[in-house]
Amino acid sequence: MAETRIAFVTGASRGIGRAIAKRLAAPAGSGGQGRHVVLVSRSEGPLNDLKAEIESGGGSASVRAVDVADGAALATAIESVVSEHGRLDILVNNAGITRDNLVLRMSDEEWDAVIDTNLRSAFVAIRAAARAMMKQRFGRICNIASTSGVVGNAGQSNYAAAKAGLIGLSKSVARELGGKGITCNVIAPGFVQTDMTANLPEQVVEQVRAGMAVRTLGTPEDIAAAVAYVTSDEAGYLTGQTICVDGGLTMC
Ligand code: NAP
Repeated sequence: MAETRIAFVTGASRGIGRAIAKRLAAPAGSGGQGRHVVLVSRSEGPLNDLKAEIESGGGSASVRAVDVADGAALATAIESVVSEHGRLDILVNNAGITRDNLVLRMSDEEWDAVIDTNLRSAFVAIRAAARAMMKQRFGRICNIASTSGVVGNAGQSNYAAAKAGLIGLSKSVARELGGKGITCNVIAPGFVQTDMTANLPEQVVEQVRAGMAVRTLGTPEDIAAAVAYVTSDEAGYLTGQTICVDGGLTMC
């Protein structure tokens, strides 16, 4: 029997990352991918709750409480997974924050926090994971960007820059590591119902909804389904791509 694939999912405590972790960890027979999923975020409590939920459904998970903006801690967490399991097959860089402001008012702190959490962390994680993936001659890297990184968004110059950076990073990694059986793709969600979008004014939500071909906000599960595909064994011929899962908002 083939070895269980080991997946490392950041930002798994809630929202999109939680749905990705659940989808990857659920047994194949119950609509999941049957991976062992390492659940990563800063808050250990919600990760332990999710681990228990996954295990009660017949899946397998473990927890690493890490601030992904702390590059050394993130690299150490990945190295510990490789030494514990002897491999790392799937890396999903999903952890992200917003610190919205108009560019004229944006502070250095707002800029740096978003770049460090959303972009630098992905570079650090990829660098740490790539050695094990190269040795295995297999790897699936998925970076969660945003349609803001593709078409821009007023008030989000830091966030859009970080997300556009993820797209450039992913294309370069895809080119560097493709010959070693490693793919690297981007999933770019549009507007998804999570804590991140919970406080948007109703008027803004209505405007966005009206611009979407399917006229509804996405769910975390919509994004998880796309991640499940790009991280699957069968997606080996798909790399360097940005897939906008946005209900037809941008059609980019
Ligand atoms: P969310 O509900 O706010 O969840 C964010 C996740 O990231 C949480 O698990 C949080 O965990 C984790 N996180 C944040 N900072 C972290 C840090 N420094 N270290 C470790 N973990 C950290 O957001 P979401 O809507 O699910 O978004 C997930 C991803 O999708 C993000 O990259 C976001 O930019 C992207 N996205 C979301 C939407 C949307 O409409 N929701 C649209 C486009 C793209 P802790 O707080 O427990 O650390």
